[in-house]
Amino acid sequence: MTAQLIDGVALARQWRARVAERAAALAARGHRPGLAVILVGDDPASQVYVRNKVKACGEAGIHSVLETYPASLTQDELLARIAALNADPTIHGILVQLPLPPHIDAQRVIEAIAPAKDVDGFHVANAGALLVGQRGYWPCTPYGCMKMLEHIGIELRGKHAVVIGRSNIVGKPMALLLLQANATVTICHSATANLAHHTRQADVIVAAVGRPRMLTADMVKPGAVVLDVGINRLPDGKLCGDVDFDAVREVAGWITPVPGGVGPMTIAMLLLNTVEAAERAAG
Ligand code: NDP
Repeated sequence: MTAQLIDGVALARQWRARVAERAAALAARGHRPGLAVILVGDDPASQVYVRNKVKACGEAGIHSVLETYPASLTQDELLARIAALNADPTIHGILVQLPLPPHIDAQRVIEAIAPAKDVDGFHVANAGALLVGQRGYWPCTPYGCMKMLEHIGIELRGKHAVVIGRSNIVGKPMALLLLQANATVTICHSATANLAHHTRQADVIVAAVGRPRMLTADMVKPGAVVLDVGINRLPDGKLCGDVDFDAVREVAGWITPVPGGVGPMTIAMLLLNTVEAAERAAG
């Protein structure tokens, strides 16, 4: 059996169209949604991500401001910019592209963003809201994964989900969202003994590690849903995920490709969080 493909590009297009409608409705009431994107330094991957986010905003009718600074920007200068954006009524979402240069404390910067404008969902207030089941802003990548699961119509109640990776931006919030959806959740990480033992029991696997093709076909239960969050650049310049796509596709029930899977959904959820922030601000 060959797995069915979850087309992140097509699903993201649907979500972006819905966001565009909501943005237009807000704009008609004089509340055009606005996103500020801050990029510090010249990391090439970050430049691509930021460009894609700004372009997506434009297409959805969200006003966006891109602020780029040299790597020499001081932490205090960055904090001052965030304070100004927190106070700017035309800006509803603030995104600081990570990673930041090593002399800047990323957590400190994230905590400086007003939680109501933290559309990345990384602020401790939003992380805490997710933990206790209150509605804050969910981090865009796990949010996009949940929309993909919803789209294929899988009932998560009683299913076993295995998340590989425990970062604050992907693995942990992913596990919490799956838990909230009544899945039984296992979180694996670099110190997990016998990873395959866990993944083989999973009805749903989310791979968020950053190691090319580490999830191999023998680690997957036939029919499982496999979401591949990883984005890895191979020596030949091509992108690949954390899943050995060609082989796993022959075992899994559903699978996301890389590129064209989780990545586009991440951007769509950023737009969704931004329009929601603007709706809340508009009352
Ligand atoms: P991090 O490096 O922060 O986290 C990686 C996680 O993988 C850690 O928890 C680590 O464990 C775990 N890990 C490392 N090696 C192993 C191993 N051998 N077995 C099991 N677990 C392991 O990465 P992120 O969470 O930020 O990102 C993960 C991947 O997703 C990256 O490829 C990134 O580029 C991609 N990404 C994609 C996005 C998208 O839009 N599609 C958005 C964000 C990220 P430990 O905690 O013990 O170190």
